[in-house]
Amino acid sequence: MADFVEVVTVEDLTRRVSELGQQLSDDYADRVPVMIGVLNGCVPFMADLVRAMEIDVAVDFLSLTRFDGSGRVGMALDAGVPLGGRDVILVEDIVDTGLTLVTLRKMLGLHEIASLATVALLDKAPRRIVEVPVEYRGFEVGDEFLIGYGLDWNHSYRNAKSLWAVMDLSVLQSDADAFAPFAYPASV
Ligand code: 5GP
Repeated sequence: MADFVEVVTVEDLTRRVSELGQQLSDDYADRVPVMIGVLNGCVPFMADLVRAMEIDVAVDFLSLTRFDGSGRVGMALDAGVPLGGRDVILVEDIVDTGLTLVTLRKMLGLHEIASLATVALLDKAPRRIVEVPVEYRGFEVGDEFLIGYGLDWNHSYRNAKSLWAVMDLSVLQSDADAFAPFAYPASV
């Protein structure tokens, strides 16, 4: 079997992100939501999603600190945009166990916001260990490790244009460059 398998093509990403943008534009037609991207994986998705929207939005980001092994997360929300009374849309690359999202929702709940919804490009629903609402999702995916379009391997490959499943992680563990010909085919 191949070591890397493309699971969502550029064409599928473009089509689905544009659908999500349209849906959000309809649902928030009379409001100016604050889109808060969860760094770093949200970057390509966020950039494409906000441009697929046909309403005004505010854009902000937050970053997470993960306490290794414990599964606990902390949040550095450096919101330049005051959140009180605003409709907030969290923009996530992927929801896996759900632990990150649960923590974020709890922390944002302290800001007396008007409403909160999550848009996740990818949903690994079978791996969920805590119940958490995901109001908008791009694709349901299996439990393979994914890279590209925001998702990294040791800080690399976030800028690969499409999404790939790593079928054998030991290949990347022994040679981090093994995915480069797939991520950057024009450079081969
Ligand atoms: P959760 O708290 O839902 O388990 O974790 C979500 C985070 O785990 C994502 O934002 C992402 O950073 C990371 N993650 C989960 N699955 C994958 C994956 O398949 N590939 C990569 N690169 N990161 C993942």
